[in-house]
Amino acid sequence: MKSVIITIGDEILLGQILDTNSRFMARELAKLGAETVQMRSVADEKEAIWKALDDAFCVADAVFVTGGLGPTKDDLTKNVLAQYFGTELVFNPQAYAWLEEMFSANPQRLNAYNKSQAMLPRACTPLHNVKGTASGMWFEKEGKVLVSLPGVPFETEYLFPAEVLPRLKEKFHDLLLQYRMVTVYNIPEAELAMRLASYEQKLPKGLSLAYLPSAGFVRLRLTAKGAAVERLDTFWTALLQELKGLSFEEPRSETSQEEFARRLRQSGVTVACAESCTGGNIAHLITAVPGASAYFLGGVVAYSNEVKKQVLGVSEEDLKKYGAVSEPVVLQMAQGVRRITGAQWAVSTTGVAGPDGGTPEKPVGTIWMAVAGPNGARAQKFVFSHTRERNIGRGSIQALQFLLNEIEAANR
Ligand code: ATP
Ligand code: MG
Repeated sequence: MKSVIITIGDEILLGQILDTNSRFMARELAKLGAETVQMRSVADEKEAIWKALDDAFCVADAVFVTGGLGPTKDDLTKNVLAQYFGTELVFNPQAYAWLEEMFSANPQRLNAYNKSQAMLPRACTPLHNVKGTASGMWFEKEGKVLVSLPGVPFETEYLFPAEVLPRLKEKFHDLLLQYRMVTVYNIPEAELAMRLASYEQKLPKGLSLAYLPSAGFVRLRLTAKGAAVERLDTFWTALLQELKGLSFEEPRSETSQEEFARRLRQSGVTVACAESCTGGNIAHLITAVPGASAYFLGGVVAYSNEVKKQVLGVSEEDLKKYGAVSEPVVLQMAQGVRRITGAQWAVSTTGVAGPDGGTPEKPVGTIWMAVAGPNGARAQKFVFSHTRERNIGRGSIQALQFLLNEIEAANR
């Protein structure tokens, strides 16, 4: 099954929001083995939507559209889809029943605006959206499928796995595409390609190897399509054999945040953080994963020296003597937040995120981090890059890594 994703919304094209719906759906489709051949964002305009649909149906078996389903008049997806499938909007009793159910506690809030959400193209099967008032829509035409979902990511992220994927699995029996990834360190892409040249030549039809280089490492992706899926394991083992002697690792299927969350849960401890240069990003990374309350007690963003002193109890003398970006200060920050929150473990950061504020001894990207636990505290210094965003991002991940390593080492 080939799919095309179309996101509708002027706000995407104006750069006001990032199109996260495409990424979400593409990821879910990839897990299922469906190939997304194109993603496209278009304006809230009849001609633009129509043209995108025409183009999509030239290459896709299934087209996924998000956005523009709201009851406001700038949302015209529903009207365009009705026309595209040669019908008109009609009252859909099923969709109306869902609305009544949703407003059952406050029936007076079911106003004309909301009621218009039950007007759907005659040709569609409505998809039950328990997270919002706009139903999803499933259309079929000449063996192909079109699914229209709301723009609100929270709603699409509910509807897609709950209502769309099961129907797709039923409809398309050829959902065959699988891949494996491996990261190879400290070898230039060209050298790796030379090393793997004869392996690549032996790959049968349906199997392909892609190189995804970054600074310091190359990720390799071995993809199998259709019948070749059966041979993926064999050629994967052969690939790892070819990499013998190099430093490489297979990625986990979870994101680093999910991995941290799992490891924190498994370790059974409570944690807290005191952040200067990362500005709350560590707390954000921890709390972005559902269930964080089981291990996360809280954090302090101690950006100024005053807060470091008054809230975390960092010594004024040390601040003066060593500066805010220093080992004694970061150690006291971790110990301070551990003390005030009562957490078993705490992590802290203080550094020069940039772009300004660097000195020869403490260049931009210098970050001190510390972990305090039941047996004392330890600090480490890192020097990242010149980009503020990367320093905050990498510094936060590194700090979490440091925290987990210390916890796991103590538990061993
Ligand atoms: P509503 O009923 O809220 O109007 P809708 O289906 O009409 O929903 P839109 O009006 O297009 O959807 O967008 C609703 C919200 O979802 C907006 O805040 C918009 O910024 C956000 N949004 C829309 N499309 C996307 C997308 N592709 N990725 C991320 N966010 C999106
Ligand atoms: Mg809208």
